[in-house]
Amino acid sequence: MISLTGKVALVTGASRGLGRAIALFLGETGADVVVTDLLIENDVTDKDKMAEYGKLAAHFSGTDKVRTQQTADEIKKMGVRSLGHKMDVTQPAQIQAVVSETLKQMGRIDILVNNAGVMDNMAVMEKQTLNMFERDLKINLTGAFNCIQAVWPYMKKQKWGRIVNISSFVGLRGALAQPGYGASKAGIIGLTRSLALEGAGYGITVNAVLPGFIGTEAVKMHDPKMLDQIKDRIPVKRMGNPDEVAPLVAFLGSDHSSYMTGTAIPVTGGADLFSF
Ligand code: NAP
Repeated sequence: MISLTGKVALVTGASRGLGRAIALFLGETGADVVVTDLLIENDVTDKDKMAEYGKLAAHFSGTDKVRTQQTADEIKKMGVRSLGHKMDVTQPAQIQAVVSETLKQMGRIDILVNNAGVMDNMAVMEKQTLNMFERDLKINLTGAFNCIQAVWPYMKKQKWGRIVNISSFVGLRGALAQPGYGASKAGIIGLTRSLALEGAGYGITVNAVLPGFIGTEAVKMHDPKMLDQIKDRIPVKRMGNPDEVAPLVAFLGSDHSSYMTGTAIPVTGGADLFSF
Protein backbone atom coordinates (compact mmCIF):
# COMPACT_ATOMS: atom_id res chain seq x y z
CA MET A 1 0.00 0.00 0.00
CA ILE A 2 1.28 3.46 -0.91
CA SER A 3 0.66 5.95 1.87
CA LEU A 4 1.31 9.65 1.39
CA THR A 5 -0.11 10.62 4.78
CA GLY A 6 1.65 13.72 6.10
CA LYS A 7 2.95 14.74 2.66
CA VAL A 8 1.87 17.90 0.84
CA ALA A 9 1.54 17.72 -2.94
CA LEU A 10 1.07 20.47 -5.53
CA VAL A 11 -0.38 19.47 -8.91
CA THR A 12 -0.46 21.79 -11.94
CA GLY A 13 -3.14 21.73 -14.65
CA ALA A 14 -5.41 19.77 -12.32
CA SER A 15 -8.82 21.15 -13.26
CA ARG A 16 -9.59 18.18 -15.50
CA GLY A 17 -8.08 15.20 -17.27
CA LEU A 18 -4.90 13.58 -16.04
CA GLY A 19 -4.08 16.34 -13.55
CA ARG A 20 -7.43 16.03 -11.80
CA ALA A 21 -7.16 12.22 -11.66
CA ILE A 22 -3.65 12.53 -10.20
CA ALA A 23 -4.78 15.11 -7.60
CA LEU A 24 -7.70 12.88 -6.54
CA PHE A 25 -5.49 9.79 -6.32
CA LEU A 26 -2.87 11.62 -4.22
CA GLY A 27 -5.69 12.68 -1.88
CA GLU A 28 -6.94 9.09 -1.70
CA THR A 29 -3.48 7.90 -0.71
CA GLY A 30 -3.45 10.42 2.15
CA ALA A 31 -1.62 13.48 0.83
CA ASP A 32 -2.78 17.04 1.37
CA VAL A 33 -3.19 18.39 -2.14
CA VAL A 34 -2.93 21.85 -3.69
CA VAL A 35 -4.96 21.75 -6.89
CA THR A 36 -3.89 24.42 -9.39
CA ASP A 37 -4.88 25.32 -12.93
CA LEU A 38 -4.89 28.17 -15.40
CA LEU A 39 -8.70 28.17 -15.16
CA ILE A 40 -10.72 28.28 -11.97
CA GLU A 41 -14.47 28.37 -11.50
CA ASN A 42 -16.25 31.72 -11.87
CA ASP A 43 -13.13 33.66 -12.77
CA VAL A 44 -14.22 36.63 -14.88
CA THR A 45 -10.61 37.65 -15.63
CA ASP A 46 -10.30 34.54 -17.83
CA LYS A 47 -12.72 35.87 -20.41
CA ASP A 48 -10.37 38.47 -21.97
CA LYS A 49 -7.48 36.04 -22.17
CA MET A 50 -8.79 33.23 -24.36
CA ALA A 51 -6.67 34.13 -27.43
CA GLU A 52 -3.58 33.79 -25.25
CA TYR A 53 -4.82 30.73 -23.31
CA GLY A 54 -5.58 28.71 -26.46
CA LYS A 55 -8.24 26.51 -28.05
CA LEU A 56 -8.74 24.03 -25.22
CA ALA A 57 -9.08 26.68 -22.51
CA ALA A 58 -11.54 28.59 -24.73
CA HIS A 59 -13.54 25.39 -25.25
CA PHE A 60 -13.73 24.47 -21.56
CA SER A 61 -13.88 27.94 -19.96
CA GLY A 62 -17.24 28.65 -18.34
CA THR A 63 -18.30 24.97 -18.55
CA ASP A 64 -18.66 22.42 -15.76
CA LYS A 65 -15.36 20.88 -16.91
CA VAL A 66 -13.50 23.63 -15.02
CA ARG A 67 -13.22 21.90 -11.65
CA THR A 68 -10.21 23.35 -9.85
CA GLN A 69 -12.02 24.28 -6.64
CA GLN A 70 -14.44 21.38 -6.99
CA THR A 71 -11.50 18.95 -7.10
CA ALA A 72 -10.09 20.51 -3.93
CA ASP A 73 -13.53 20.18 -2.28
CA GLU A 74 -13.74 16.50 -3.31
CA ILE A 75 -10.27 15.88 -1.85
CA LYS A 76 -11.22 17.58 1.45
CA LYS A 77 -14.11 15.11 1.76
CA MET A 78 -11.47 12.34 1.85
CA GLY A 79 -10.36 13.71 5.23
CA VAL A 80 -7.18 15.48 4.09
CA ARG A 81 -6.46 19.15 3.50
CA SER A 82 -6.78 20.69 0.04
CA LEU A 83 -6.64 24.11 -1.59
CA GLY A 84 -7.72 25.17 -5.08
CA HIS A 85 -5.78 27.98 -6.75
CA LYS A 86 -5.58 29.68 -10.10
CA MET A 87 -1.96 29.35 -11.21
CA ASP A 88 -0.52 29.98 -14.65
CA VAL A 89 2.74 28.03 -14.92
CA THR A 90 4.20 30.69 -17.23
CA GLN A 91 3.92 33.32 -14.46
CA PRO A 92 6.65 32.93 -11.81
CA ALA A 93 5.00 35.55 -9.54
CA GLN A 94 1.74 33.56 -9.47
CA ILE A 95 3.63 30.33 -8.76
CA GLN A 96 5.57 31.98 -5.93
CA ALA A 97 2.32 33.30 -4.42
CA VAL A 98 0.78 29.78 -4.46
CA VAL A 99 3.94 28.22 -2.99
CA SER A 100 4.01 30.86 -0.21
CA GLU A 101 0.30 30.30 0.52
CA THR A 102 0.85 26.51 0.60
CA LEU A 103 3.72 26.87 3.06
CA LYS A 104 1.61 29.22 5.18
CA GLN A 105 -1.48 26.97 5.21
CA MET A 106 0.11 23.51 5.07
CA GLY A 107 3.61 24.08 6.44
CA ARG A 108 5.55 22.19 3.75
CA ILE A 109 5.76 21.04 0.13
CA ASP A 110 6.92 17.48 -0.54
CA ILE A 111 5.64 16.53 -3.98
CA LEU A 112 5.37 18.61 -7.15
CA VAL A 113 3.55 17.16 -10.15
CA ASN A 114 4.18 19.15 -13.33
CA ASN A 115 1.17 18.12 -15.40
CA ALA A 116 0.01 21.41 -17.00
CA GLY A 117 0.38 21.39 -20.73
CA VAL A 118 -1.07 22.38 -24.06
CA MET A 119 -1.44 20.10 -27.05
CA ASP A 120 -3.55 22.26 -29.37
CA ASN A 121 -0.81 23.36 -31.79
CA MET A 122 -1.25 20.87 -34.61
CA ALA A 123 0.01 21.92 -38.03
CA VAL A 124 2.51 20.82 -40.64
CA MET A 125 5.79 22.71 -40.77
CA GLU A 126 4.78 25.27 -43.45
CA LYS A 127 1.85 26.27 -41.28
CA GLN A 128 3.70 26.43 -37.96
CA THR A 129 4.47 29.88 -36.55
CA LEU A 130 7.31 30.84 -34.24
CA ASN A 131 4.72 32.14 -31.78
CA MET A 132 2.90 28.81 -31.55
CA PHE A 133 6.13 26.82 -31.37
CA GLU A 134 7.44 29.02 -28.56
CA ARG A 135 4.10 28.83 -26.74
CA ASP A 136 4.40 25.01 -26.61
CA LEU A 137 7.85 25.33 -25.06
CA LYS A 138 6.87 28.16 -22.72
CA ILE A 139 3.94 26.30 -21.16
CA ASN A 140 5.01 22.65 -21.37
CA LEU A 141 8.73 22.95 -20.66
CA THR A 142 9.54 26.35 -19.15
CA GLY A 143 6.34 26.07 -17.07
CA ALA A 144 7.74 22.93 -15.42
CA PHE A 145 11.09 24.67 -14.88
CA ASN A 146 9.31 27.65 -13.25
CA CYS A 147 7.42 25.42 -10.81
CA ILE A 148 10.49 23.36 -9.91
CA GLN A 149 12.51 26.51 -9.29
CA ALA A 150 9.82 27.79 -6.90
CA VAL A 151 9.74 24.62 -4.72
CA TRP A 152 13.41 23.60 -5.00
CA PRO A 153 14.81 25.68 -2.08
CA TYR A 154 12.18 24.27 0.32
CA MET A 155 12.72 20.67 -0.76
CA LYS A 156 16.48 21.17 -0.52
CA LYS A 157 16.15 22.59 3.00
CA GLN A 158 13.93 19.73 4.20
CA LYS A 159 16.23 17.24 2.44
CA TRP A 160 13.26 15.45 0.87
CA GLY A 161 11.38 16.12 -2.31
CA ARG A 162 9.62 14.30 -5.12
CA ILE A 163 9.22 15.94 -8.51
CA VAL A 164 7.16 14.10 -11.10
CA ASN A 165 7.09 15.58 -14.58
CA ILE A 166 4.39 14.51 -17.00
CA SER A 167 6.12 14.15 -20.34
CA SER A 168 4.74 11.87 -23.09
CA PHE A 169 5.90 8.88 -25.09
CA VAL A 170 6.11 11.29 -28.04
CA GLY A 171 9.07 12.81 -26.17
CA LEU A 172 10.91 9.64 -27.24
CA ARG A 173 9.11 8.90 -30.49
CA GLY A 174 8.29 12.32 -32.01
CA ALA A 175 4.87 13.83 -32.69
CA LEU A 176 3.71 14.18 -36.29
CA ALA A 177 2.52 17.75 -37.03
CA GLN A 178 3.25 18.77 -33.44
CA PRO A 179 6.93 19.80 -33.51
CA GLY A 180 6.59 22.15 -30.53
CA TYR A 181 4.72 19.59 -28.45
CA GLY A 182 7.19 16.82 -29.31
CA ALA A 183 10.18 19.06 -28.57
CA SER A 184 8.70 20.23 -25.26
CA LYS A 185 8.02 16.66 -24.11
CA ALA A 186 11.54 15.53 -25.10
CA GLY A 187 12.84 18.63 -23.27
CA ILE A 188 11.05 17.55 -20.10
CA ILE A 189 13.00 14.29 -20.14
CA GLY A 190 16.26 16.27 -20.38
CA LEU A 191 15.13 18.62 -17.60
CA THR A 192 14.20 15.61 -15.46
CA ARG A 193 17.57 13.90 -15.87
CA SER A 194 19.58 17.11 -15.35
CA LEU A 195 17.78 18.03 -12.13
CA ALA A 196 17.85 14.41 -10.93
CA LEU A 197 21.64 14.68 -10.93
CA GLU A 198 21.51 17.92 -8.94
CA GLY A 199 18.78 16.82 -6.52
CA ALA A 200 20.38 13.48 -5.67
CA GLY A 201 22.58 15.00 -2.98
CA TYR A 202 19.60 16.63 -1.27
CA GLY A 203 17.06 13.79 -1.09
CA ILE A 204 15.15 15.20 -4.07
CA THR A 205 14.19 12.72 -6.78
CA VAL A 206 13.06 13.88 -10.22
CA ASN A 207 11.29 11.45 -12.52
CA ALA A 208 9.22 11.66 -15.69
CA VAL A 209 6.06 9.77 -16.58
CA LEU A 210 5.43 9.20 -20.29
CA PRO A 211 1.75 8.54 -20.95
CA GLY A 212 0.60 7.12 -24.26
CA PHE A 213 -2.92 7.88 -25.51
CA ILE A 214 -5.05 8.54 -22.46
CA GLY A 215 -8.76 9.15 -22.96
CA THR A 216 -9.08 12.54 -21.27
CA GLU A 217 -11.75 15.10 -22.22
CA ALA A 218 -9.13 16.94 -24.30
CA VAL A 219 -8.12 13.83 -26.28
CA LYS A 220 -11.75 12.77 -26.80
CA MET A 221 -12.37 16.05 -28.65
CA HIS A 222 -10.46 14.64 -31.65
CA ASP A 223 -12.28 13.15 -34.63
CA PRO A 224 -13.69 9.75 -33.49
CA LYS A 225 -12.47 8.10 -36.70
CA MET A 226 -8.93 9.24 -36.01
CA LEU A 227 -9.21 7.96 -32.42
CA ASP A 228 -10.35 4.55 -33.69
CA GLN A 229 -7.32 4.39 -36.00
CA ILE A 230 -5.05 5.27 -33.08
CA LYS A 231 -6.64 2.61 -30.84
CA ASP A 232 -6.08 0.05 -33.54
CA ARG A 233 -2.34 0.78 -33.54
CA ILE A 234 -1.98 0.43 -29.76
CA PRO A 235 -0.97 -3.14 -28.85
CA VAL A 236 -3.68 -3.40 -26.15
CA LYS A 237 -6.21 -1.93 -28.65
CA ARG A 238 -7.59 0.82 -26.42
CA MET A 239 -6.69 4.20 -24.95
CA GLY A 240 -5.64 4.35 -21.33
CA ASN A 241 -7.66 5.89 -18.49
CA PRO A 242 -6.27 8.69 -16.30
CA ASP A 243 -6.66 6.27 -13.37
CA GLU A 244 -4.08 4.01 -14.99
CA VAL A 245 -1.44 6.77 -14.83
CA ALA A 246 -2.16 8.30 -11.42
CA PRO A 247 -0.92 5.34 -9.28
CA LEU A 248 2.55 5.55 -10.84
CA VAL A 249 2.67 9.25 -9.96
CA ALA A 250 1.72 8.42 -6.36
CA PHE A 251 4.43 5.75 -6.21
CA LEU A 252 7.05 8.20 -7.55
CA GLY A 253 5.83 10.70 -4.96
CA SER A 254 6.31 8.27 -2.09
CA ASP A 255 9.16 6.95 0.06
CA HIS A 256 8.96 3.65 -1.85
CA SER A 257 10.61 5.20 -4.93
CA SER A 258 13.64 6.53 -3.02
CA TYR A 259 16.18 4.69 -5.23
CA MET A 260 14.63 5.87 -8.49
CA THR A 261 15.64 9.17 -10.01
CA GLY A 262 16.07 10.51 -13.54
CA THR A 263 13.78 7.82 -14.95
CA ALA A 264 11.37 8.27 -17.85
CA ILE A 265 8.65 5.66 -17.52
CA PRO A 266 6.16 4.90 -20.33
CA VAL A 267 2.51 4.13 -19.49
CA THR A 268 1.30 3.36 -22.97
CA GLY A 269 -0.39 -0.03 -23.35
CA GLY A 270 2.66 -0.93 -25.42
CA ALA A 271 2.35 1.98 -27.87
CA ASP A 272 5.99 2.97 -27.34
CA LEU A 273 7.04 -0.52 -28.49
CA PHE A 274 5.43 -0.08 -31.86
CA SER A 275 7.48 -1.18 -34.79
CA PHE A 276 6.73 -2.53 -38.24
P1 NAP B 1 -5.89 18.65 -20.62
O1 NAP B 1 -7.21 18.14 -20.20
O2 NAP B 1 -5.85 19.68 -21.69
O3 NAP B 1 -5.14 19.12 -19.33
C1 NAP B 1 -4.13 20.08 -19.33
C2 NAP B 1 -4.40 21.04 -18.21
O4 NAP B 1 -3.32 21.99 -18.18
C3 NAP B 1 -5.69 21.81 -18.45
O5 NAP B 1 -6.48 21.82 -17.28
C4 NAP B 1 -5.18 23.19 -18.81
O6 NAP B 1 -5.99 24.25 -18.39
C5 NAP B 1 -3.89 23.26 -18.03
N1 NAP B 1 -3.04 24.33 -18.51
C6 NAP B 1 -2.82 24.72 -19.79
N2 NAP B 1 -2.01 25.79 -19.82
C7 NAP B 1 -1.72 26.08 -18.53
C8 NAP B 1 -0.93 27.07 -17.90
N3 NAP B 1 -0.29 28.01 -18.61
N4 NAP B 1 -0.86 27.09 -16.55
C9 NAP B 1 -1.54 26.16 -15.82
N5 NAP B 1 -2.30 25.22 -16.35
C10 NAP B 1 -2.39 25.17 -17.69
O7 NAP B 1 -4.98 17.44 -21.13
P2 NAP B 1 -4.67 16.00 -20.50
O8 NAP B 1 -4.97 15.04 -21.57
O9 NAP B 1 -5.28 15.85 -19.17
O10 NAP B 1 -3.08 16.11 -20.38
C11 NAP B 1 -2.44 16.46 -19.16
C12 NAP B 1 -0.93 16.37 -19.35
O11 NAP B 1 -0.58 15.07 -19.78
C13 NAP B 1 -0.37 17.33 -20.40
O12 NAP B 1 0.89 17.80 -20.02
C14 NAP B 1 -0.26 16.44 -21.62
O13 NAP B 1 0.72 16.89 -22.51
C15 NAP B 1 0.17 15.13 -20.95
N6 NAP B 1 -0.13 13.96 -21.78
C16 NAP B 1 -1.41 13.65 -22.09
C17 NAP B 1 -1.65 12.54 -22.87
C18 NAP B 1 -3.04 12.12 -23.24
O14 NAP B 1 -3.17 11.25 -24.13
N7 NAP B 1 -4.07 12.66 -22.63
C19 NAP B 1 -0.58 11.76 -23.35
C20 NAP B 1 0.72 12.11 -23.02
C21 NAP B 1 0.94 13.22 -22.21
P3 NAP B 1 -7.16 24.93 -19.26
O15 NAP B 1 -8.36 24.51 -18.54
O16 NAP B 1 -6.90 26.35 -19.17
O17 NAP B 1 -7.06 24.45 -20.67
